Amino acid sequence: MRRDLRCDDHAALYHALCQAQQVWCVFVFDTDILDSLPRQDRRVEFIREGLVQLDAELAALALGAGVQGAGLLVRHGKAPQEVVALASQLQVQAVFANHDDEPAALARDDAVRHALQRQGMALLTSKDHVVFERSEVLTRTGTPYTVFTPYKRAWLQKVQEAGPFYLSSYKVQRHAGALAPRPDTPAKAVPELKTLGFEPTNLAQLAIPTGSAGAQAMLAQFLDTGMARYDQARDYPAVRGVSYLSTHLRFGTLSIRQAAALAWQRSQDTKHPGSAGAATWLSELIWRDFYHQLLHHHPHVVNSSFRPEYDAVQWSQGPAADALFEAWAAGQTGYPLVDAAMAQLNTTGYMHNRLRMVVASFLTKDLGLHWQRGEAYFALHLNDFDLAANNGGWQWAASTGCDAQPWFRIFNPVSQSQRFDGAGKFIRRYLPVLAKLPDALIHAPWLARPVDLGAAGVELGRNYPWPVVQHDAARAETLLRFGRIKKPAQSG
Ligand code: FAD
Repeated sequence: MRRDLRCDDHAALYHALCQAQQVWCVFVFDTDILDSLPRQDRRVEFIREGLVQLDAELAALALGAGVQGAGLLVRHGKAPQEVVALASQLQVQAVFANHDDEPAALARDDAVRHALQRQGMALLTSKDHVVFERSEVLTRTGTPYTVFTPYKRAWLQKVQEAGPFYLSSYKVQRHAGALAPRPDTPAKAVPELKTLGFEPTNLAQLAIPTGSAGAQAMLAQFLDTGMARYDQARDYPAVRGVSYLSTHLRFGTLSIRQAAALAWQRSQDTKHPGSAGAATWLSELIWRDFYHQLLHHHPHVVNSSFRPEYDAVQWSQGPAADALFEAWAAGQTGYPLVDAAMAQLNTTGYMHNRLRMVVASFLTKDLGLHWQRGEAYFALHLNDFDLAANNGGWQWAASTGCDAQPWFRIFNPVSQSQRFDGAGKFIRRYLPVLAKLPDALIHAPWLARPVDLGAAGVELGRNYPWPVVQHDAARAETLLRFGRIKKPAQSG
């Protein structure tokens, strides 16, 4: 188990249960990953909570099939060594896992595969994390798609033609009798955070539902009240207009097939008042597949621009650029929507999609900073951090990616704020210092009269910053910066 922390509708578990007489499930807290994280990390806590549930779910699943004493085996160490050692201790014939197509994960899996092979064991992997992976959706000429709309059309057509096939779930329960009792009986299957070397975060205060039970509760709520109006509400960060399921999809506490099947069914019933909302939500799930296949076919995006010519962009560097980056990261740019968005990220680990686009555009096009700086910051702080989607999102905003925002289209952070948080409700939630400013002034406090700022208790330069850059001047500079790039004759 790794980015698939559930036992329901789980491809690798299903295949193992069907093919083997005895199946043990293991999760490794991989020190190669953990060692690079700060000692307080919501994701580690989220995973740990999910594992406690998963252990109980596996035990119950096995018990339902008459097997006592099954549960999750948890190890803490270097994943390749731990997996091979356990496989050898249990004398298994094969290790089953789901695909993880991030370059580092592929290298790790290769190492495990070879080490297992040397001992006569196999590593058998399957697709689970996306609906369509790798080369399953290609153009008519057999090349990977680099533009979303035709990719989406082909994706939908493939689902349509196959009926529910690609979205149907793996019926794990039917085969649960092959789950084997744990070889050891630890007092607690899942180590405490402290044992892993981590401190608690504010995850409990945020009341983020964890584990597959949490995912199902959130999905049920979204189905009930959110999906139908998703197409209208999804761009407004102050309302509950989105699903907030990204962290569950990232760690597999929710199956992508379950989510996509529900959206697909509802989108097909055009008489259903929520069919347009469901179709728009399904589109977002397809973006997720799109970025995963893009990473598979173009792994160079991890370290460079999708479009190589944009590696020549002269991003700002040096102490002044560093100071601007610090201001951005701390939510101290003087642009309220940008700062409120960064406050949301820093205090919760989540940021609304509209705001991810706004702050990414601000970092690259207003501050002139390399998109990789923002990408790395998101990677460290997002609960739902996923290499494929994060890299795709940043390269989209920076105009260096495939099917990206054209470089000359530059978000105005004030008009984005007026448009998507008109009444300043989101800004007030995360920037209480600005709460008393009237709606008309909250988007650009530096334009307010001193008397209005004073009445709202805002003192620019003291309790809220002056803008760190002027948007119009920054925009002009960005146009020059990108204008200097030699574009290939046919860059479409
Ligand atoms: P919903 O709006 O309810 O969408 C449903 C699901 O669809 C999401 O949970 C997610 O799995 C998927 N999805 C939605 N939009 C996208 C998208 N543009 N690309 C890929 N998948 C999408 N998403 C991540 O999951 N991890 C990331 O690290 C990540 N980084 C991003 C960085 C930037 C700069 C940008 C612009 C976007 C990024 N996204 C990322 C995409 C998107 O912002 C989040 O998936 C979304 O905000 C999560 O909230 P939600 O679950 O309420 O989404």
